[in-house]
Amino acid sequence: MRKMTFAALAAVLLVPPAAAQDAPAAAGATYIHAGRLLADPASGRVETGKTLVVEGGRVAAIRDGFVGEGRVIDLRDAFVMPGFIDSHVHLTFESGPTSRIDAVTKSTTDQAFDGVVFAGRTVRAGFTTVVDLGSDPEAINALRDAIAAGKVTGPRVIAAGGVAAHGGHGDVHGYRQEIIDLFRSPTLCSGADDCARAVRVAVQQGADIIKTASTGGVMSNTAAGLGQQMSDAELVAIVETAHRLGRKVAAHAHGTDGVNAALRAGVDSVEHGTYIDPESIRLFKAKGSYLVPTLLAGDTVSQQAETADWMPAPVRAKARTVGPLMVDALRRAHQGGVRIAFGTDSAVSKHGENAREFALMVKAGLTPLDAIRAATVWGAAHIGLEGEIGSLAAGKAADIVAVRGDPLADVTALETVDFVMKGGAVVRPSAD
Ligand SMILES: [Zn+2]
Repeated sequence: MRKMTFAALAAVLLVPPAAAQDAPAAAGATYIHAGRLLADPASGRVETGKTLVVEGGRVAAIRDGFVGEGRVIDLRDAFVMPGFIDSHVHLTFESGPTSRIDAVTKSTTDQAFDGVVFAGRTVRAGFTTVVDLGSDPEAINALRDAIAAGKVTGPRVIAAGGVAAHGGHGDVHGYRQEIIDLFRSPTLCSGADDCARAVRVAVQQGADIIKTASTGGVMSNTAAGLGQQMSDAELVAIVETAHRLGRKVAAHAHGTDGVNAALRAGVDSVEHGTYIDPESIRLFKAKGSYLVPTLLAGDTVSQQAETADWMPAPVRAKARTVGPLMVDALRRAHQGGVRIAFGTDSAVSKHGENAREFALMVKAGLTPLDAIRAATVWGAAHIGLEGEIGSLAAGKAADIVAVRGDPLADVTALETVDFVMKGGAVVRPSAD
């Protein structure tokens, strides 16, 4: 526990125990005294000496000065802002030396329990909402629902259903065929009609959003490159079907051909976007699609390619190539005016270290404020939740993060979060 949290913890201890758990706060207001407050990252305005009045899990009001009594949380020494949104995680696993064996030994229940641990680390790092872009559907849907019901401490989860090409990035590789057959998902597809079917199955299974992969991927254990793997017709069928069912589409894409095909098909976001070109930038803007750059994944795998002996050879070769290119891709996209949403691909990197992405985004030329916007207001708009999260105002969710120091001067301040509230419940410092 860090210095300022003693004051915060003392105040938190005044809160009855029930409110310190991951459930909506009991009736009655909580007053958060914010020394510096960035309530709306869109405006970028930092106000001093404000009180956030929290009631029923939501911000009831923002008042001048330090007011209210009873349940007071003292963040007078802190920089307070909305909870962060990570638009690309995989909550039920983590890449490492045992990944290949884990994939065939861990049951769905094992994965759900691992997800409980990783969800806790994620929310305590200040990420109060995540988009899970690929976990076992049964495990992630159960985890999402348990968190929403207040049974488990974790971020709000938007859970994707994956729709991918047979033999492509989302398929299973590198095991005996009998094992692969066992693990193949009913949402793998070939051909436009079959891909429409796969989207419908994913939605039926509980997907909030559709994740597809228009190109090869770094972490798939196959030397199939990083170019386009899904046909244009398949991508159009996926997007049209998902949109008809009220679901957005996030497309994993590295190679230029696959990025541009996904954008032409109308995907809502491109994940990674390593080899974007000027035509990609034009398409992003014409379609209003978001880039989710996942620089932390690139950084992690390019380091592991040199040091981790467990990394399979096809993965290592792709990792070496891609990592260094991703920062430059974000630089060009941002300069070109592409909408950016913060995403880490955590599971490739360790859960709970999501905030390391901020410094990498700044390295790519974003200001610290723009990096914060990508993780708040822009991230909220990307998933259509701008009325609920991403900024602090009366009526919005009481998802609140505080750090020491000034993240607008040194964005690495966000890597050490001192206080987190999600939906009106304090999750850091934790009561237990
Ligand atoms: Zn991913």
